Amino acid sequence: MNYHQILADITKEVKALPDKGTPASYIPELAAVDPNNFGVYLQPVNQKGYGIGDFDKKFSIQSIAKVFLLALAYKKKGKALWKRMNYEPSGDSFNSLIQLEYENGIPRNPLINAGAIVVCDILLDLLPNPKQDFLQFVRKVAVNNSINYNEKIAVSEAATGYTNAAIANLIKSFGNLNNEIHDVLDFYYHVCAIEMSCQELSKSFLLFTNGGVISETNERILTLSRTKRINAIMQTCGFYDEAGEFAFKVGLPGKSGVGGGIVAIHPEKYSVAVWSPRLNAKGNSHKGMKLLERLTTKTDSSIF
Ligand code: GLN
Repeated sequence: MNYHQILADITKEVKALPDKGTPASYIPELAAVDPNNFGVYLQPVNQKGYGIGDFDKKFSIQSIAKVFLLALAYKKKGKALWKRMNYEPSGDSFNSLIQLEYENGIPRNPLINAGAIVVCDILLDLLPNPKQDFLQFVRKVAVNNSINYNEKIAVSEAATGYTNAAIANLIKSFGNLNNEIHDVLDFYYHVCAIEMSCQELSKSFLLFTNGGVISETNERILTLSRTKRINAIMQTCGFYDEAGEFAFKVGLPGKSGVGGGIVAIHPEKYSVAVWSPRLNAKGNSHKGMKLLERLTTKTDSSIF
């Protein structure tokens, strides 16, 4: 498979499409990012990877970090996690409050904001130094000590985080948060403010491609069963109310973030990350989705 040629061709095609959408503006620091950035990196299992465009520029991975958060909490807490949240698709936007009220503060899944906020609460109870320990975990999975939080983005989100504060308050009112709301949200905003390049992101997600083992170090982080389940949650919940659309058009488990990044995996084959900051109405990268749709079509590699 000539991945490099295919990536070059589809990048050219997708870049030529009309631009739609705008970068996220509810986090002021994200609105300042050049919307014309465009990068993609495909990392096959046990082979060298292929990058095009801005593949080595760091960007805010935002909700993509919820997958690392879930991985660490699942590793530490096991199935008891599912007493605090569910693993069903929400069919609602990432920051919706609606279901939370009639489902008594139990979030639909760990990949919407409500679920990730509960996972943060769980990790605050389990980790001695939550922010440092979580960063260490991501660095280990990425096999890269340069991964860091962007403090400016964390502060920027906290300053305007009214919806997330409402979500956390509602969950707390139902008794499903143990820690103080300020501490839970501070951790959550830092998690979302992790920066990675497409190259770093696709290499880190090899963990989920490889059944829970970091390929470079051969260290097992998750059991095969838990990895399979995280992949199932990415498939059904990774794109909020566009999870069906992503399965329909791309056909891979994946996760998006409002920074304009998307990462997707083909179990045992490859991991791919794309970055294009203009978002569609559902908060997912417009051109990122288009590129991945072309990738799985041209390489005949949807999992379905
Ligand atoms: N930090 C963002 C928020 O809470 C993450 C949302 C996203 O990437 N979809 O709104």
